[in-house]
Amino acid sequence: MNIQQKDKNHVWHPFTQHHTAKNHLEIIKAYGVYLEDASGKKYIDANSSWWVNTHGHGHPHIAKAINEQFTTMDHIVFAGVTHPKAVELADRITSILPDHLEKVFFSDNGSTAVEVAIKMVMQYFYNKGEKKNRFLAMNGSYHGDTFGAMSVGQRGYFNKPFEPFFFDVDTIDFPNGENEQAILENAKGLFATKEFAGLIIEPLVQGAAGMRMYSAEFLDQLTALAQENDVLVIFDEVMTGFGRTGKMFSLDFCQNKPDLVALSKGLTAGVMALGLTIASNKIYDAFLSDDIGKALLHGHSFTANPIACAVACANLDIFEEKKTWQRINDIIAWNEDFAKQLAQLDNVENIRQQGTIIAFEVKTGEENSYFSDVKTKAYDFFLENGILLRPLGNTIFVNAPYVIEEEEYGEITGSILNFLTS
Ligand SMILES: *Cc1c(COP(=O)(O)O)cnc(C)c1O
Repeated sequence: MNIQQKDKNHVWHPFTQHHTAKNHLEIIKAYGVYLEDASGKKYIDANSSWWVNTHGHGHPHIAKAINEQFTTMDHIVFAGVTHPKAVELADRITSILPDHLEKVFFSDNGSTAVEVAIKMVMQYFYNKGEKKNRFLAMNGSYHGDTFGAMSVGQRGYFNKPFEPFFFDVDTIDFPNGENEQAILENAKGLFATKEFAGLIIEPLVQGAAGMRMYSAEFLDQLTALAQENDVLVIFDEVMTGFGRTGKMFSLDFCQNKPDLVALSKGLTAGVMALGLTIASNKIYDAFLSDDIGKALLHGHSFTANPIACAVACANLDIFEEKKTWQRINDIIAWNEDFAKQLAQLDNVENIRQQGTIIAFEVKTGEENSYFSDVKTKAYDFFLENGILLRPLGNTIFVNAPYVIEEEEYGEITGSILNFLTS
């Protein structure tokens, strides 16, 4: 029996309607920016393997870290035990975050990193004996697929069956260049009720909503309003972290810093499953008590897995190399050129760029939705042309690994231009 048949028999894929799904592309190798299928055909990994890869596949420094850590210590319980790589990672990650973000909690992915942040906010006020039960989130946001994360995310198609089980969340509109003052007024009114515990936000770029971008100035004002009203601010940097926006984190563009940050995706160079929630000392201190019930009674079997931590440290090593940031800046410049070329086309709108991410919509005349036809047509066209690029509805975007060469980048942008003019 071949792989496709066995896959059909036994595998349940993410975000997939198996009744209508075609055969899955069978990738058997990955190196640098390339993926290779069973027939030997190569594809450029233009969306960094679901936005996670930072330094290309099979990076020798990451390989060494995995190998060394495995032969030293593969895994260990993290309650009552600590180990050097977890401590090194916590120390290094807090040294590149704002000073007040000092306490690192380990989990397994972006959703759990967010889930932990939400639980920290809820319990912070619980521990202090303050009744604050409301959260504010932004329309169109995506924070993951566990229950807390879904509750604060955009409601609709993706989570309709679960909606009756979510906690209530208030939302503000997405800032579109015209409605900023109205949104801030709205938020101010809500926060004035003093019923709000937390604000959760994807800083500067909403990923899953279609790489929608907004200004640091707006975010600064929103953060300030929240913090003036004792509302804890969570930045979900799961997608925006690790160079994607042109700086290490989105918060590096902001004057006003969050109380909590959730990290995953690029944290491990896109190689191991790991999530981090980094909290301020103010939050951490509210959990200190003689009462065990005031502790954060949360954990996962693979909390602070040493191999994942070693990989995250190796990822940071590569970010300390000058050439990584040189290439990030190259990509930013290539995107600027590409944006000019796109601007010449009639069927393209909303061209936008934040650091290494460039995105735009293909005009179709229909409403933009995840299931828009552009998605399927474009996906197939790019595959045919040796590029793995998954549009979100009629939004096409590129967020490639930071080791991509100019010529390879040109293949992606050239292919997109061909698609748009064919
Ligand atoms: C991907 C993503 C998540 C969820 O992360 P998983 O690792 O897929 O659970 C949360 N927030 C944002 C902004 C994301 O892009």
